[in-house]
Formats: sequence, C-alpha cells, structure tokens
Amino acid sequence: MKNLIFYYSAMKGAKSMLLIQRAYNYNENGKKILVMKPAKDTKDDHYLISRNGSKREVDVLLGEKERLISEQYIDKLLETDVILVDEAQFLSSLQVEELWKISKAYDKDVMCYGLRTNFKGELFEGSKRLMELSDSIRELDTINLCLCGNQAQFNARLENGNFTYEGEEVAIDGANQQIEYQPLCGRCYLQKVFVKMRR
Ligand SMILES: [Zn+2]
Repeated sequence: MKNLIFYYSAMKGAKSMLLIQRAYNYNENGKKILVMKPAKDTKDDHYLISRNGSKREVDVLLGEKERLISEQYIDKLLETDVILVDEAQFLSSLQVEELWKISKAYDKDVMCYGLRTNFKGELFEGSKRLMELSDSIRELDTINLCLCGNQAQFNARLENGNFTYEGEEVAIDGANQQIEYQPLCGRCYLQKVFVKMRR
C-alpha cells in the first residue's frame, strides 16, 4: 500500500526547493513523476521556482473545480509512479480526498508540500483535509526563522509594512504590491498579530 504524506512548514521554508530536489532524485532513479500545483497559486504560472533559483515545469496546473479522477487526468495519473504537489494548502477538500483515493486504490505515492495555516493562524481547507487523511504528517526541518531567530511556525501578513489581521485568505505576495509575508515564531505572532485581533 502506498502513502499520502503531508510535508508542511511556514512560508519561506524551502518547500519548493525540496520538492524540486525530490523530483530530480526520483527521475535519476528511473521513476515516473507527476508534479502538480493548484492554479490558485498564481505565482510563477506553470513553473515552480524556489528561492535558491531552481526551477521546474508543472505537469498539471489544477483548477479549483477540477477533478483528478477524471477523463482529463486519469491516464496521466495511472502511468506515473509518484505524485508531488506544491502549494497543497490551496487544494480543495475533494481534491485531497481524490489524492488519498489515488494512493490507496491506484497504489501511487502522493507527497504534498504546503503551509499548515493562513495568516490568521487557521488551517487552510486543503491542509485541514490533509491533516485528517494523510498516512504521515511531517513538519519540514526548515531554515525559515522568525525575526527573533526562533524557528518560525506562523505566516504573518504585512500590508504596507504593517502586520494585519484583515483581508481575504489568499493574497499572493508579489502579485499585490502592498502585501508581504513574514514567518514568525509563536511568541512573536502572539505579540505582533494575535493581540491585535483579540482586543
Ligand atoms: Zn520570534
């Protein structure tokens, strides 16, 4: 039986770099892999580009309403050995359920890389279902640090340079000039963001 695995970290945690590296290693070993990304992540279009400059084309850019176990994708899925998904927090619950079915019924390894929580410290839809269904949930041992030097766990949003607790769940940095993200540890998130909204 194959596994569905969820690897998570805060933002800037080198997830794309690790995914690209893993894809490369599988290719070297003669495995067929399929790299997917939800289209909701509009950054870099059909590519995964990591902060260290490595790049890989995405095989499937999955629309929000698209189904995986469908005429469009089923052949591609059946001929692959391993499925790698970046920005997996943006998957719908249904799409996560399909990935789980694919690992169990079609005997494919599925590895999802993504964020655990949004800028409000709440689970994303995709991350929630992944937490519920994955055979294994692993926090990536990453290099993303808080401003204070502790390991970052939260993704704080800055709007025009100020920490904010307002706004839509998805606002891609770079696409919107005023929006940036800062990984923070629990204590700094509490002091800089959480106290603001719980006043
Ligand atoms: Zn901190």
